[in-house]
Amino acid sequence: MSESKAKDLKEELFTKKKNACFILKDSEISQADEFCKGYMRFLDAAKTEREAVCESIKLLEEKGFTEYDFSKDLNPGDKIYINNRGKAIIAAIIGSGDVNKGFRISAAHIDSPRLDLKQNPIYEDNQIGFFKTHYYGGIKKYQWTTIPLALHGVIIDSKNEKIEVKIGEDENDPVFCVCDLLPHLATQQMKRNLSEGVKGEELNILIGSRPFKDDKESEMVKLNIIEILNKKYGIAEDDFISAELEAVPAFKARDIGFDRSMIGAYGQDDRVCAYTALKALLDCDDVPNKTAITVLTDKEETGSDGNTGLNSSYLKYFICDLAEKLGGNARQVISASECLSADVNAAFDPTFPDVLEIRNASKINYGVCVTKFTGSRGKSGTSDASAEFVARIRNLLDSKNVIWQTGELGKVDLGGGGTVAMYIANLNIDVIDVGVPVLSMHAPFEVTSKIDTYMAYKAFKVFIED
Ligand code: MN
Ligand code: MN
Repeated sequence: MSESKAKDLKEELFTKKKNACFILKDSEISQADEFCKGYMRFLDAAKTEREAVCESIKLLEEKGFTEYDFSKDLNPGDKIYINNRGKAIIAAIIGSGDVNKGFRISAAHIDSPRLDLKQNPIYEDNQIGFFKTHYYGGIKKYQWTTIPLALHGVIIDSKNEKIEVKIGEDENDPVFCVCDLLPHLATQQMKRNLSEGVKGEELNILIGSRPFKDDKESEMVKLNIIEILNKKYGIAEDDFISAELEAVPAFKARDIGFDRSMIGAYGQDDRVCAYTALKALLDCDDVPNKTAITVLTDKEETGSDGNTGLNSSYLKYFICDLAEKLGGNARQVISASECLSADVNAAFDPTFPDVLEIRNASKINYGVCVTKFTGSRGKSGTSDASAEFVARIRNLLDSKNVIWQTGELGKVDLGGGGTVAMYIANLNIDVIDVGVPVLSMHAPFEVTSKIDTYMAYKAFKVFIED
């Protein structure tokens, strides 16, 4: 017994949550750093939802997963995946236990905010060539000017041939950019609101300036660019109509800080959860008791609608299919399932302390964040996890030494946001939001902590293995 009863009581009764750097051994911190090297390679290889699917399939097949064949039986230990239109993927390991006790689902999204090309994108103005864009997801538009952009995506031509495009990632590739006004002439622009500082129709991408040599014809810069594209890809102007081309930041994932404790990269919302949830499944070497499913979905940033978003039935159909094949009752299996809705949270930023309520905000290096509810104002648009399910996950993480914290997205009346949690909860599944805190979320260069990323991986892993 020490001299101070208050000190002892505090020790016993107050929260023991603290910076993970004070809890972890140096060897564990090194493990986190090592783990994040693979994550950073994934980020560089998967800057779009389509590339994330391709990269995931590569990793899955290396670990013996095969494409799900509807005509074949399933057995415990089978490793399968289904590819939804090249933009979303579900991977599963069939469990050995009673199917009617439900599945374990981890769900993350692989789409990120970006600039999509419009369907008639190419034009010339005063002998400079541009692409028109339509931004995707919630962005602060001014952040997307004057940074190098790469172009990723597909063009389906008039013969239904798919042409893959990826320009700006190789050091020898050209890159593209959106121009902004020089401050000397921005007096009027600087009076606009920050939200209008750069407008949607001003996000035009610079793509060329040399004209085709024929001064009798007009639009010679545009012609010159289309001729280059025709030689490289065999396409003509109308082929853009059936294209999905995404302009994304051209820079690569980098260590941040003198201590290299953080990662700076594009698209960490939500590939930080996608990679960690996928890796947890890939590293599951023993046959789990309950069938483990990782779904990496598309369209979260635009509200989850569409056939590759989680408001579509593709996850439900897959679960029903597995349930029936394994001799269970599909409705029973769905209702007994549990899900970690894996998405990022807003990390507390001391430069902007006013938007977060410090007692209920997630912090860098405090571990994976467990969020009971999302939504905005009076919890509108939320799936509020039950106290019972929060307790179950909290006690699971504690028992397996996963360092975690709790946090919600911002002060009560200041805004908010949702995740895919509610679409899964609406199927009558217990769901809770779990994810990594991010600084500068939705910016072209987002920041996460290596320790938090590693703890997310551990959380998904213990959830599968439990
Ligand atoms: Mn997200
Ligand atoms: Mn987001």
